[in-house]
Amino acid sequence: MNSPTEVSVTKESLAFSAAHFLTLPGHVCERLHGHNYRVGVRVEGQVDPATGFVADFAVLKQVIRALIEPLDHRLLIPADNPDLRIREDGDHLRLDYRGPDWLVIPRPHACLLPVRHTTAELLAAYLGDQVWAGLTTGGVGGLQRVIVEVEESPGQGAAVERGPGARPFMS
Ligand SMILES: [Zn+2]
Repeated sequence: MNSPTEVSVTKESLAFSAAHFLTLPGHVCERLHGHNYRVGVRVEGQVDPATGFVADFAVLKQVIRALIEPLDHRLLIPADNPDLRIREDGDHLRLDYRGPDWLVIPRPHACLLPVRHTTAELLAAYLGDQVWAGLTTGGVGGLQRVIVEVEESPGQGAAVERGPGARPFMS
């Protein structure tokens, strides 16, 4: 068997801009602010002798772009955050935190994510799960490992691994 080969789509080619906040009382990031996020993905597996690919870049980029498009130019709201109550009110979302209507935002401007906090770590975990699912259900077989990195500022990011070859401490 050939040794595994790694292919990557680097952070330079996959980016989105979004607003967020953290429910950490008194922390500077509790205030609404934004980042120009960048996403990098590395995929490890065997080269398919028929195609010469580990994973087709076109498929890889399509899967990732479909995942980050709903986040782009939106407010990222952590739907699983126990300190946040999110109420749908017509075309708006009303967020109760430290009191009612802490934030009211037009629904199309928001992206509800199934995470407890919108930290780089948990965004990477969310995207890692989704990228792995998207690739494996999208017909990209034989992958050992996918590594997804989310950078919220230059030089400041988090990475996760998914798949059977993922290192256990990062799963
Ligand atoms: Zn931030």
